[in-house]
Amino acid sequence: MEGQSRIEERVLARVRTGRDELVGLLGELIACDTSSREGNAAARDEAKLQEILAARLRGLGADVRVWEPEPIEPGETPACLFHLDFVGRPQLVARVAGTGRGRSLLLNGHIDAVPYGDVSRWQSHPLKAEVRDGRLYGRGANDMKGALASFVHVLECLRAEGVRPAGDVVLAANTEEESTGTGGLRVAQSGVAADAGICGEPTGFDVWAACRGAMTFVVGIPGRTGHAEMPQPGWRDGGAVNAIERLEIVLAAARRLREDWRTRDDSRHPLLSTPDIVPTMVRGGEWTVTYPDRCTLTCDVEYMPSRVDGCGWAQGVRDELEALFDATAAADPWLAEHPLSYEYLTEAVPAEVPVDHEIVRLPLQCAAELGRHGRVAGLDSWHDAATFTRFGTPTVSFGPGGFETAHRENEYVPVDDLVDHACAVALVALRFCGT
Ligand SMILES: [Zn+2]
Repeated sequence: MEGQSRIEERVLARVRTGRDELVGLLGELIACDTSSREGNAAARDEAKLQEILAARLRGLGADVRVWEPEPIEPGETPACLFHLDFVGRPQLVARVAGTGRGRSLLLNGHIDAVPYGDVSRWQSHPLKAEVRDGRLYGRGANDMKGALASFVHVLECLRAEGVRPAGDVVLAANTEEESTGTGGLRVAQSGVAADAGICGEPTGFDVWAACRGAMTFVVGIPGRTGHAEMPQPGWRDGGAVNAIERLEIVLAAARRLREDWRTRDDSRHPLLSTPDIVPTMVRGGEWTVTYPDRCTLTCDVEYMPSRVDGCGWAQGVRDELEALFDATAAADPWLAEHPLSYEYLTEAVPAEVPVDHEIVRLPLQCAAELGRHGRVAGLDSWHDAATFTRFGTPTVSFGPGGFETAHRENEYVPVDDLVDHACAVALVALRFCGT
């Protein structure tokens, strides 16, 4: 313990005394099945979970809004290409008003958690929180209901100690982070903003100040059908063309691009891995004795924050992909006259916060005072923090527990991490918003 004011000491003591309440709240959140959905699958316990949070937050005098946003419509955003409704999946925003003179702080968490899969592979039921050896087990304990519980606990402890930060503290709990990212998008679009933000992804007390963008890129390879067991004339004479065999050309293009991206100057980032293109799915063929007239290769493309253009999306990356695949295909006479086709399924846009920003340094400093020494890092995948950053609130991720148990069976968060995270967030809120 060092350098903390009397008020801070009081609040930290309250956070620690309330350890069981924090564990209890997390257990309530885990008991709600908020498994992330595919497409427009029916809602589960999302509304119930938001109501649990809303009741707690109203209880401490916050201005709470829980609402089902307008559906996402096709063409609206590359994040989701189909009609997606929010029926039964409300978003929540709670504002704890400051005394009016300080900076505001956003605390953000997603309430959805990846599906828990085969229950028999869990040592305890994924929807029933259980503490064993100082670890709280359950789906979402780590990613990231633990941080959400921690945020609410902080607000309750501030209130219990009669401490009101000078700036507003805004808590936003959204859905869809694990699927399309559109829950956070709708929350940001609703006007939720602050001077800085913390998203509670399980960073293990590191601060993630940057993330890569991701797009799903599908290359369509044309062919021509014909009997696979009969001699075929040349394609110019009407013969069959095997689309699957031309996959080699497309895979070679992907490899070339990856090598180029690995060595290029605009690919270097101090916190992130180089951009990448990873073939993830192949589909082709209709019948065992028919030449396949079509084959598709799906690739996961990860790109740097610097590639986002003025429209907020990475059109330049799309142009580069198509130019390179076109150029490679042009060497093949069939593909030169029957071009590849391109489709983009979804896109998650990257963002970064300057490493000298206070919202990067302050959480690290506060955690270090508690003996939790983290570092500035980046996330090679994507998180909701990028959305809030793009909408004007510089937002980093800073959360309890490491990423190791996220998206796995027997997911857990160490209870000591939870308590220390709540302590660190309380210090950040007091220092950033002022008292
Ligand atoms: Zn997460």
